Amino acid sequence: MVLLREYRGKEILRKFGVPVPPGKVVRDAKEAEAVLRSGEIPVPCVVKAQVLAGGRGKAGFVKLTNTVEEAVAAVHGMVGKEFKGEKVREVLLTTKADIGRELYLSITLDRSSRKPLLMASPEGGVEIESLPAEKLLRLPLHPLTGLVSYEKRAVTRAFALPPAAAKDLDRILDSLWAIFEKEDAELVEINPLALVGDRLLALDAKVILEDDAMFRHADFQKEHGELSPLEQKAHDKGIAFVEIGGDIGVLANGAGLTMATLDVLYQEGGRPGIFLDLGGTDDPKKVVEAFLMMTEANPKVVFINIFGGVTRCDTVASGLVEALKQAKPGFPLVARIRGNNEKEGIQILRAAGIGSYSDLAEAARHVVALEQGRASKGGAASPPAPAIAGGAS
Ligand code: GDP
Ligand code: MN
Repeated sequence: MVLLREYRGKEILRKFGVPVPPGKVVRDAKEAEAVLRSGEIPVPCVVKAQVLAGGRGKAGFVKLTNTVEEAVAAVHGMVGKEFKGEKVREVLLTTKADIGRELYLSITLDRSSRKPLLMASPEGGVEIESLPAEKLLRLPLHPLTGLVSYEKRAVTRAFALPPAAAKDLDRILDSLWAIFEKEDAELVEINPLALVGDRLLALDAKVILEDDAMFRHADFQKEHGELSPLEQKAHDKGIAFVEIGGDIGVLANGAGLTMATLDVLYQEGGRPGIFLDLGGTDDPKKVVEAFLMMTEANPKVVFINIFGGVTRCDTVASGLVEALKQAKPGFPLVARIRGNNEKEGIQILRAAGIGSYSDLAEAARHVVALEQGRASKGGAASPPAPAIAGGAS
């Protein structure tokens, strides 16, 4: 999931012919003043924090201003502040529109019906979450045809627009579908789509791109820039690696097991900090690489939780032992290896001095004890006690 900031989303809307008011991104009050004084963005203007979370309007992170002084003060008030955990680094200055009505439009992927879903409401704006169901038009779309004319007419009817705006809407709907399809989007949302006079204008944009399709969008890949240096390195190697700021490293296979492992660690009072998803790999080289990345991140303790399916336990174990020889980590390891070729895997680990738990909660408790310094650190060479092979978990 690659969620774009408003201005990046608006660049895409513009590229596909959706009318968007002129805007300029600035990083501080001084830059804002220069842009406003030059008339590049005239006042009155709207000052908008470029953060990923929604709901800025209600929280004072979208400000309507009438003078250069007001706008500069608004920028000054936003830069460096936090909004839902994200520091504001960029602010969009955009010309203020005289809104007649606020509409809502989006296309998203509806996973339950496995179809793109068009949603439209004549009552858009900041209260969209509390909209009664009957005010929201939901049209499942055929993935091959996209929006067809009768579907577009249904939206036009629901919006009850003057003729010029109805024409705009027709084109905007085509553009929305084109973006969804050509840019491999998971979501394209315009809220509000504003009626200004008798024309339509997209005043906000939320675009989420499918990250499995990022290789087709080199431009976004390059600018993605929201990864830590280690995450970037892992990304370049095709390893799913995420740093979230705790002390436990987690190495698991598959998104589901990785998430479940984090949950159990949290439940036991631990703070997982790095997680690395081996996915379905059965390649010892990949396991070595992944483990070396983990070593670079230098967590307090590493928990290896593998369920052998396509990935065989013995292959992963061999990869780990090989990685240990190369990396010589300074942190203790706790392993839990279950599934396909489990016995062989456990034996390989044991030969290298690493014991393996069969019970997840028990393993997690030991990991958290190590993190919190309540259990003795033996380093990689000493097996965590108790080392139990097999058994029910
Ligand atoms: P969000 O709250 O993060 O979704 O930010 P939006 O960009 O959607 O802005 C929130 C609200 O600010 C909108 O629903 C509008 O009511 C208002 N707003 C945004 N841009 C303009 C504008 O150009 N003119 C006016 N009058 N209001 C605006
Ligand atoms: Mn919005």
